[in-house]
Amino acid sequence: MATLINEGKAKQLFTTDDPNIIQVHYLNQATALNGKRKEPVADKGVVNNQIDSLIFNYLNQQGIATHFIKQLSPSDQLVKKMKMVRLEVVVRNYASGSFQRKFDTEYLLKFDEPVQEFYYKSDRLDDPFINDSQIHALQIATPEQLSTMRDQVFKINQLLNQLFAKAGITLVDFKVEFGFDPDGNLILGDEISPDSCRLVDSQTHASLDKDVFRKHTGNVMDGYRTVLSRLEATVK
Ligand code: 5GP
Repeated sequence: MATLINEGKAKQLFTTDDPNIIQVHYLNQATALNGKRKEPVADKGVVNNQIDSLIFNYLNQQGIATHFIKQLSPSDQLVKKMKMVRLEVVVRNYASGSFQRKFDTEYLLKFDEPVQEFYYKSDRLDDPFINDSQIHALQIATPEQLSTMRDQVFKINQLLNQLFAKAGITLVDFKVEFGFDPDGNLILGDEISPDSCRLVDSQTHASLDKDVFRKHTGNVMDGYRTVLSRLEATVK
């Protein structure tokens, strides 16, 4: 019998017969403002599970160590059980969101080199920015672990840029999370989907991600479905 272990903002985690494997169920719900705004969105779980499964399959095939095992059904997948590092690792290729606000830059200013930032995962504190020495002071990760996560996230960025470019989509920025698998390896976990990436049409710059929900600018599922169908056509 599968038991609910944890319910997050967009997913439920269940036990499986194997203590090292968990089942992730994607919910038809969108949140913003670190969970303070929550609304049902039909089909979102199914579309996000498919996008995430396609991306994690691709990253696994390209040699990135991830928690992803396999897609189980339209809304569910199997992943390795992880002990998550309490950090959000953000990479930006173009200025948008909090970077654009903080430094008052032009929208989609292109960076010569990708920008990488860490945030401390805490809904109560609204995920504050955190630097290396603060991470060490709070004993969240060692310098070696930070360096592993940085190396991995830049590789992931390159691979995702290539994948999305083939689909006519520009990867503006994204957030990932790392954790320790049952063997103690520091690997990529969590989710990669339009909930955690800023994606724009390469030609029109139309937003294809959760910004549509955050800013109330249209039907968020139109963009998500576009992302899924273009990625499916790309990997065929
Ligand atoms: P920003 O710092 O500009 O708000 O976000 C940078 C990138 O990280 C965006 O692609 C955004 O979707 C993602 N991101 C930042 N915080 C979170 C979070 O708490 N949850 C999710 N799913 N994505 C986040």
